[in-house]
Amino acid sequence: MSQNAVPMPGQGHTLRTCRICGDARLEQLTAREMMFGTRDVFTYFECKSCGCVQIAEYPTNIGRYYPEEYYSFHAAASIGVPVSWRGRAKEWVAWQVLSRSRRLAARHLQSDAARKVITRSPLLSIYRDYLPGVGSRILDVGCGAGELVKELRLIHCYQAFGADPYIPHDIQDRGRLLVRKAWLHEVEGTFDCVSFHHVLEHMPHQLEVLRKTRTLLSPAGLAIVRVPVAGSHAWKRYRENWVQLDAPRHFYLHSENSLRMIADRAGFDVRAVVHDSTAMQFWGSELYLRDIPLTDSRSPAAKGPSVFTEAELTHFATQAGELNAAGCGDQLLAVLAPKRG
Ligand SMILES: [Zn+2]
Repeated sequence: MSQNAVPMPGQGHTLRTCRICGDARLEQLTAREMMFGTRDVFTYFECKSCGCVQIAEYPTNIGRYYPEEYYSFHAAASIGVPVSWRGRAKEWVAWQVLSRSRRLAARHLQSDAARKVITRSPLLSIYRDYLPGVGSRILDVGCGAGELVKELRLIHCYQAFGADPYIPHDIQDRGRLLVRKAWLHEVEGTFDCVSFHHVLEHMPHQLEVLRKTRTLLSPAGLAIVRVPVAGSHAWKRYRENWVQLDAPRHFYLHSENSLRMIADRAGFDVRAVVHDSTAMQFWGSELYLRDIPLTDSRSPAAKGPSVFTEAELTHFATQAGELNAAGCGDQLLAVLAPKRG
C-alpha cells in the first residue's frame, strides 16, 4: 500500500521524541532505499524505551518510492489462486446451500474444498483459525486489487470486502462490491474482523488507525495485524541492512512492546501473537549487506539463479522456523480484541 497522498503529521520536523511512547532516548541510524536500489538515504530512530524504530521525517516525495513495479512485485509475491469455471460453479452451488442454511455455513471453513484452497494459500488459515465461520464480516485494509478478499470468498467468506485508497475505482466481482476505493477513516459499518497484512507500517497515523479500527468492530470482533517487528533477531543482526526496514516505505517498525502499547491505548487486548517470519529476513538482508537490491536479477525473488546456493536458502528457511518458534522472527501476527467494558 502506498502513502503518496497521506497527510503527514509533523512533516518537515526532525524527530525529538518517540511518536509512540514520548521518550527522548532515541538512537539514530541511516538506511538506504534498497528494494529498487535508488540508494537514497533516510534517517530513522530507534526508541530505547519502547523499542519502536521510526522514520525521522515523512518524505514529502514518498510517491516516488512506490513505482508501478512496486505493485507488480508485490502481486507476484502474494497469493494468486486461479479461479476456474469449475471453481466458480462450486462456489455458486455453495452459496445457494449457505443461503438456505446458516448451520451448514459454519462447517464450510473446515470443509475439504476450503482446506484445498487454504493449502495453496496458507494466509487464509488465519481467518479459519480465528473467526467463527463463513458469516463473518471481514474488512481487509490496504488490500490493493483484492486478491485475498477474492480468495476469502472462495472459501465461503462471502461477507469479505476490501478498502484501498490507491486503486483507480471501486472493484466489483461478479456484480458485488469487492474493494472500495476508500481511506480507512471513510469506511463505515460493523465488522467481525478487520485485517492489515503488512499495511500498518506504511501508515503515519498509528494510534488513529487502531482507534478507527476499534470503532468498526463488533463487540466480539477481532483485528488481525501483521507487521515486521523490530527487536527481532534479524533487526539486531542487520540493523540498517535489515530487509524489512524497507526505507523509506516503512514509517514504523514496531517492537512487540510498542505494538502492545498502542493496541492498549486504542482499546484492545492482545489475544495472540504469532511470529510468521520467512527466509527472506536472511537472504534479503544479506543482499543489502552486499549492496544488491531486492529486485536485482541476482535476488532469490527473481527468476534466474541467485547469489545463494540451494543449501543456504534451505538453511535460512530452517533458521526462520526456529526463530518463529522462539518468538524472535522478524514479523508477527497479532490478534487484537476490543477491551470489554
Ligand atoms: Zn518509544
